[in-house]
Formats: sequence, C-alpha cells, structure tokens
Amino acid sequence: MCIFCWSSATSRLCDSCRRSLRPVPTSTVAGLLIASAAAHEGVARRLVHLLKYQAMEAAGMTLAELMAPRVPGDAATLVPVPRARARRMRYGVDPARVLADSLAEITGLPVVDCLAPALWWPSHAGMGRSQRRAPGFRSLRSAPAGGLLVDDVLTTGATLAAAAQLAGCRRAVTATRAESRRLE
Ligand SMILES: [Zn+2]
Repeated sequence: MCIFCWSSATSRLCDSCRRSLRPVPTSTVAGLLIASAAAHEGVARRLVHLLKYQAMEAAGMTLAELMAPRVPGDAATLVPVPRARARRMRYGVDPARVLADSLAEITGLPVVDCLAPALWWPSHAGMGRSQRRAPGFRSLRSAPAGGLLVDDVLTTGATLAAAAQLAGCRRAVTATRAESRRLE
C-alpha cells in the first residue's frame, strides 16, 4: 500500500506518487557537494513533514529509499546532522538520524555520530534578524574518509556547510531541496 495516497502498491510509494517527484540537480555550497532526492514539494514535502513533525519512521524509510540512488558509490560512512535539542524533545524524533539509519539498512554503510547539537542556545535578545544564528553543533569526532552527511531538507545550505566543516565531510545527501534556496 502506498504510504502517501493509500492506493494498492507493492512498494512503499505507488508509481503515480513516485512519478510526481521532481528531481533536482546536485548543489554546491561552500565547496560541499549536496545531492537531494527530490524538490521540497508535494509528496516529498509531505513525507518530510510526517517524519519531522509526526515522527513517522515509515516516512523516513520511504525517503531513504529515494535518497539511496544519490549516495556516491565510494561513500564509506553516513554522518547524520543532529536536530536541535529542543526540537528533538518537542517532536520526539531526530529526522536525519532516522534517514541515516534507514540508509544504512539499504546500503550497508555504517552510521557514525560525528556531531552533537551545541550545548547552548545563542541569546537573541536585542539582536536583529540578520544577526541571529542557527543553533550550532559541536564536534564529537572527525568523520572517517568518505564520510557522507545526511540531512532532511536543504534550504540555504548554511547548516550543512557548518556541519561539513566541523565533521570534515565534503559531500552530503538530503531528502529534499527547498526552492527558495539561495546560493552562498
Ligand atoms: Zn501513492
């Protein structure tokens, strides 16, 4: 049965839903190569939301199946980009972790935790929007050679670029890429 439209299907996503996904080209942000499974719209966007905000792990597995073909053949490890602590607690799920675990099942690659959410949250008091910073990460260890960052959505790429720098990764794969993305 199709996870999205409930029509009968032998795979998690029926042919009609699968055909509605729009492929996107590989992006480059600050030297980081980012491959995404689909544009952040329609079925793909809904699946991401089911994973992020309703903790539906089956949606994560479906997205991972779409991401698997974008995993480079020489990738050696999967490195999830952790969700901010407050959001993980609020929604009960760390989306990139679910995606990385699902991708590991498909590809046989190991998941390596290289990043943790920053322990502190920058104070926003008295700061303009442009000065606010996304919650950062701290490094647990450097990724082994061939480390591939895994995240749910590519937006500006700033978060992924920061994570890549800390973990020492040069490539990333995401489930979707948002249209409003601006190049940096
Ligand atoms: Zn369907």
